[in-house]
Amino acid sequence: MRERHLDIAVPEHLGEGLVAVQEGSHLDIDLKLESLHEGVLASGSVTGTADGECARCLAPVSLPVQVEFAELFGYPADEPFDHQLDGDLLDLEPVVRDAVVLSLPFQPECVDGCEDLDLGPGISLITADAEREKPVDGRWAALQGLVQDQDKTEER
Ligand SMILES: [Zn+2]
Repeated sequence: MRERHLDIAVPEHLGEGLVAVQEGSHLDIDLKLESLHEGVLASGSVTGTADGECARCLAPVSLPVQVEFAELFGYPADEPFDHQLDGDLLDLEPVVRDAVVLSLPFQPECVDGCEDLDLGPGISLITADAEREKPVDGRWAALQGLVQDQDKTEER
């Protein structure tokens, strides 16, 4: 069995959600390579940091990423594995990418809980949806006109 420690600068961000491992940030990978009958088992752990925004208050959040992976890279064979050895090479990138992306929370929140927004006096916070008028559906627009006309009629 061989062990390797890799320190990788992420070439492009991992994750499409509110938090992602950002381009240029570092991932530490402890990698074990074991030779098996069918191929090479690559396993280990990835640690790093995902940065983004809290889903509740949009404050910047920085979340630790720690995820395990294990994937068999098969020798070329009649029944191909999901991952194949390419000569002496194995491409770990999609394995690490999948493990990291799947570990990222869909609704990230501030680690210590969201702090109440501290707004100055006289500023009120209007939450979306609550106060916003619903957009008028084009099909009802004509009816809205009728109602307004009726109001005017009653005023007379
Ligand atoms: Zn928050």
